[in-house]
Amino acid sequence: MRIERTVAGAREALAGPRGRGERIGLVPTMGAFHAGHLALIRAAREGSDVVVVSLFVNPTQFNDPADLARYPRDEAQDLAAAEAEGVEVVFAPGADELYPAGFDTAVDPGELARVLEGAARPGHFRGVATVCTKLFSIVQPHVAWFGQKDAQQVAVLRQLVRDLDLPLELVALPTVRDTDGLALSSRNALLSPDERERALALPRALEAGLAAHRSGADAADASRAVLDAQAGVDVEYVEVASFDVPTLVAAVRVGATRLIDNARLT
Ligand code: AMP
Repeated sequence: MRIERTVAGAREALAGPRGRGERIGLVPTMGAFHAGHLALIRAAREGSDVVVVSLFVNPTQFNDPADLARYPRDEAQDLAAAEAEGVEVVFAPGADELYPAGFDTAVDPGELARVLEGAARPGHFRGVATVCTKLFSIVQPHVAWFGQKDAQQVAVLRQLVRDLDLPLELVALPTVRDTDGLALSSRNALLSPDERERALALPRALEAGLAAHRSGADAADASRAVLDAQAGVDVEYVEVASFDVPTLVAAVRVGATRLIDNARLT
C-alpha cells in the first residue's frame, strides 16, 4: 500500500494504473475508521481495480474551531485497517498541501447547501464541495463512494457532479448501524456511556417516523415526539427533506456532541 502525502505523489501513484485503463475507485474520509468506512472501502474493492482512500480532516468544512479540535483522529489505526482491506493508495495530505498559502478559490453549492446541515453549519457544504472537487481532480476516480448516513452531503455532491459535468460516478451506500440501532459515526467515540444511551433516541425517533409515514401520519411529528420525550437530547431539526427520495432527516445534540441520522421514506 502506498501512502501519499502530496498531490504530485498521488498523481504519480495513479499514473500507471490509469495508463493501463484500470478502474479507479475513491473513498473520501476524515479517518477514525469504523465499520461504515470499511463498508465503503469493501464496496470500492469489489467495484474497482485500484482503491484510493483519502484521509483528511478538512478544516474548511468545520464552522466551529472547537469541533475541529476535538474531532477524533487515529491515523496509525486507519492505515493498518486500509492495508488489511487491500487498499492500494492512501492519500493523507496535510492541510498546507491542499490549502497552500495563497489558496483563494471555493466551490459554492446552491440552495440545497443552505438548508438543514447547511443552515446549522454555515459554510459546511462549501468546504465539502471544494475539498471533494479537489480530491476528484487529484485522483480522477471513475467512481467515488459515499455513505447515505450523510444524506444531504450525497445530495449536494450529486448536484455538484451534475452541474460541473464531473466525469465520475457517485455511489451512495446504506448507513451501517450498531446492533442497538445507533448509526456508526466517528463522533460516537466522544459520547460518554450515559450520553450514548440517550443518543439511542435518535434511531428510535426515525423508526417511529417511518412507522408513522407508513400509516399515513406525519413522519417528522412522530420523530420529534420521541426526541422531545428524551431528557438530555436537544433537537436541532427534524424534517422531511426532498432529496432524490423524501428523506426524514434529524440532527440532535447529546451533551457536547452533535449527531445526525436519516431514514429514506420509500
Ligand atoms: P467521514 O469520515 O465521517 O467524513 O465519512 C466518510 C464517508 O463515510 C462519508 O461518505 C460518510 O457518509 C460515510 N459514513 C459515515 N458513517 C457511515 C455509516 N454509519 N454508514 C455508512 N457510511 C458512513
